[in-house]
Amino acid sequence: MRSTMQKVPLSTNHLLERGSRYFGAREIVSRLPDKTCRRSTYADLRRRALQLAAALAKAGVRPGEPVATLMWNHAWHMEAYFGIPAAGAVLHTLNLRLSADDLAFILADAGDRVLIVDDVLLPLADRLAALVHLEQVIVVPTTGAAVPAGRTDYERFIEVDASAYRCPELDEDAPCGMCYTSGTTGRPRGVVYSHRSTVLHSLAISLPDCLDLSCHDTVLAVTPMFHANSWGVPYAATMVGAKLVFPGPHLGAEDLLDQMEQEQVTLALGVPTIWMTIQQALDAAPSRWRLRRGMRMMVGGAAVPQAMIAAFERYGLSIKHGWGMTELSPVGTLSWLKPEHDGLAPGGQHNVRARQGLALPLVELRIMGEDGPQPWDGASMGELQARGPWVTGGYHNQPDDPDKVTADGWLRTGDVACIDGEGYMRICDRTKDLIKSGGEWISSVDLENAIMGHPAVAEAAVVAIRHEKWGERPLAVVVAKPGASVTAEELARFIEPHFAPWQIPDDYAFVDALPRTSTGKFLKTRLREDFRDWQSKTR
Ligand code: ADP
Repeated sequence: MRSTMQKVPLSTNHLLERGSRYFGAREIVSRLPDKTCRRSTYADLRRRALQLAAALAKAGVRPGEPVATLMWNHAWHMEAYFGIPAAGAVLHTLNLRLSADDLAFILADAGDRVLIVDDVLLPLADRLAALVHLEQVIVVPTTGAAVPAGRTDYERFIEVDASAYRCPELDEDAPCGMCYTSGTTGRPRGVVYSHRSTVLHSLAISLPDCLDLSCHDTVLAVTPMFHANSWGVPYAATMVGAKLVFPGPHLGAEDLLDQMEQEQVTLALGVPTIWMTIQQALDAAPSRWRLRRGMRMMVGGAAVPQAMIAAFERYGLSIKHGWGMTELSPVGTLSWLKPEHDGLAPGGQHNVRARQGLALPLVELRIMGEDGPQPWDGASMGELQARGPWVTGGYHNQPDDPDKVTADGWLRTGDVACIDGEGYMRICDRTKDLIKSGGEWISSVDLENAIMGHPAVAEAAVVAIRHEKWGERPLAVVVAKPGASVTAEELARFIEPHFAPWQIPDDYAFVDALPRTSTGKFLKTRLREDFRDWQSKTR
């Protein structure tokens, strides 16, 4: 017998059609460089995205070819998100915080000929154009200023009659987007998403147990659209018709809180370091902003300290903690409570939510130790490996690499994790961030979580320093909250109940700020460099 079901290829065009047909009047709000707001709708998005697709085809962009974007989060970037794939081409988002050298490597590796760039980022684009050959640089006038000679004005470029334009027939496995890993632990590598993977990922992250995304939501996408597609939320929000709010280049805590209040945001997303600054702003002026009660915050990209979940709950705001990677489109897990946790005290529930969580439907996880797959007992650690329809099976331009994908087709994430009997995954560390002291592994993530629970601590990162006797020892690099002070002895005493004595750092460095990666995570490679000559106090 054969199935009688139709074989309709999945594509991002369907998401755009659905959003604009059923929710055409829903708004997309973009904050411009001068802090005014540009308000457009899903109907505008469809019209202009198809104009962009028609213009790209007319300019000779071929199906399967990458088109690069160097842009902040706003409605023009949404047009690229849908217009480039609608032309059969591949949306290639560039991380605007990388150096011109790194970006030039990435442009050459992807083979981009066309770049769409925000006018405010033109100086960086000019440096790139001096390093790699770009045939066309299309400038988006976000400030309204005239586009310099020799560059194409985006608004002029898309002034084409798209009424007769027909999107090319798309195979669902055809590429629709690409993103390079941010290179925290090595050279950037290109991950190429397909129409199919993007649609399935959109469906999965919208589920009630995941983001619970619907047309009733107003979503503030703080996560950059150049970082793993802003976690896939622009596609999912269009599919369900949620109102979208974009901060443009204004990522300060007060700016974001103003926007949350003005638009009565119901769901916001960002990395923990963004939420740390927001928490500090709320603590300093608790009644300044009237936020929508029950606002959800999707936080991932780095571990969420349990103390942060509790702190936001006091303001009636709820954190959803997820784990993902560029290689997973990017969401792999999210931590939601099961009915059996209803009876737990708040502390117990926070503890469950601070884990990285349960795999999304269609994603499979396993923990691989030296002696094979590890039991799900909450204690056996090993490398986290993943498989699923939106998990990459390799990298652009790189022949099969057994360091990245196993012979039986699982992605090697480079994370060390364990999974408990209920299925909750917990990231213990990145392989390269684990600390090996006297032959035993110490998790930097666990120490950071515990130290950041101290009321005087704003941020903390733990890295390995060399030690003659023990090989490595943990060094905690700590930023105190403004106006607060704390000593090494107080911190050691504070975390003592949660660790074995040999796991507790003897070494603490107090600094004004921690270095960050281009995606806002703590930059541990720099910290290891900065503290290379630190003389450990451990005997
Ligand atoms: P990069 O690898 O360059 O940092 P990604 O954004 O793809 O870029 O980062 C993926 C990595 O971020 C994961 O492999 C993991 O180490 C870390 N990560 C993501 N989410 C979490 C989380 N919730 N808790 C701990 N680590 C996380």
